[in-house]
Amino acid sequence: MALPVDEPPRGVPGVEPVTPCTSDSPREACGVVGIYAPSDSVAHLSYLALHALQHRGQESAGIAVSNGDDITVVKDMGLVASVFDERTLATLGGVLGIGHTRYSTTGTSSWENAQPVYRSTANHQFVLGHNGNLVNTGSLATETSILPGMVGSDSNLIAELLQMEISAMAPSDQVRGRVLERALERVLPRLIGAFSLVLADEERVIGVRDPNGFRPLCLGRLDRGWVLASETPALDIVGAHFVRELSPGEMVVIDGDGVRSNHPFPTDRVDPRLCIFEFVYFSRPDSVIYGQSVHHARVRMGELLARQAPVDADLVMGVPESGLPAAEGFSRASGIPYGQGLVKNRYIGRTFIAPSQQMRSLGVRMKLNPLRDNIKGNRLVVVDDSIVRGTTTRALVAMLREAGAAEVHLRITSPPYRWPCLFGMDTGDRSELLAARLSVAEMVDYVGADTLVFIEMEELTAATGAVGAGFCNACLTGDYPVDVRPMNGSRG
Ligand code: SF4
Repeated sequence: MALPVDEPPRGVPGVEPVTPCTSDSPREACGVVGIYAPSDSVAHLSYLALHALQHRGQESAGIAVSNGDDITVVKDMGLVASVFDERTLATLGGVLGIGHTRYSTTGTSSWENAQPVYRSTANHQFVLGHNGNLVNTGSLATETSILPGMVGSDSNLIAELLQMEISAMAPSDQVRGRVLERALERVLPRLIGAFSLVLADEERVIGVRDPNGFRPLCLGRLDRGWVLASETPALDIVGAHFVRELSPGEMVVIDGDGVRSNHPFPTDRVDPRLCIFEFVYFSRPDSVIYGQSVHHARVRMGELLARQAPVDADLVMGVPESGLPAAEGFSRASGIPYGQGLVKNRYIGRTFIAPSQQMRSLGVRMKLNPLRDNIKGNRLVVVDDSIVRGTTTRALVAMLREAGAAEVHLRITSPPYRWPCLFGMDTGDRSELLAARLSVAEMVDYVGADTLVFIEMEELTAATGAVGAGFCNACLTGDYPVDVRPMNGSRG
């Protein structure tokens, strides 16, 4: 349902405020992997899979493995390659494990909030990795008398609830076996929001997708084992074959008996609403979601934009990375030549944080540099995925003009971003969103372009190739798939 226009997102009791965001694009919020492979090196497979998910979170990385009796966790701040080396991986002997890359949307960016989260009770241990964002952490914390600041992040809160549930089980229920599964069956229906989870205890790996399926989670088959991962490239890199996506509201349990599927949520809560930005920006182009290639969906976005908003120009260029396939599609549909106009500095990550507001315009120069020979004197069509705060777009247009562009026509592969994401994407507060404050005509003036056109919502949905599959587009329409008003929802 739509929030009132002036509804400000608020903080969540029990959960620390988000890290201030100084980027100008929505930022992703974690990648997860779970591996059950008793005859392989689970730590090495997890490490490879996390590499394929590095784009979903670059603040911290972690792997937890079980050798059948004990769980060991290694996690730290930084990229996967800086947290793990051969020596560390060699110490992580196990038959199953989970891994996580994090970008913080609730909780500070700190070692304590890095994942996997580890918890133990008198007889049990488990670990958890979370991609998404709960919107009812406030009421959950109140219900359970968890004090503000006690848990640090919504992921820690889920682990806390599971630990409480396990501790409260009668001794006869606490036999080794399906303890974690039973705790999940009780805790999961109480969670509202976005949560693709991977969990493990000593003997099994578990995957869960929330009833709206906001975030992706897929299952793959190894020769002698199974893999759960946020995106299909993580399956490719470990040599696993794609089996299927988990259904919204599904829990799968993987152990020595194979894969069991369970549906712990009330059926009336199951309403598929995959984040449409997985297609626009967040997922890798080589990912397959809803049976569709993300790369091809982006090409189609460009083709449809060219038909929706034709323009007389000399060159079509994309803003790396996600704007590139869309620019290719725009060029193909319009007949305007495609060319490279911007060179990306590969060593600046997506989460590059400029040290101050003043430095943001320099931030774009750290990430992108113009190819002057292709730009000078040309009328450019510049294809990008989104405009969130507008700061980077404005700096980009100024940079292209300085490089000699005769005209700059912006074409954006998402509709105007007017509402905060409450489901795990860091877009900042509504007051920070350019399209929430300005009309499109005013945005043209603000960013300094000659023209600016956003793709229509229907065209974007059509471009995914999965019309009717069910999408969340709340940040574009204000139509939130779950009731976020009474829940003191955080800003995602
Ligand atoms: S609000 Fe926007 S970014 Fe957030 S889950 Fe929905 S579509 Fe994705």
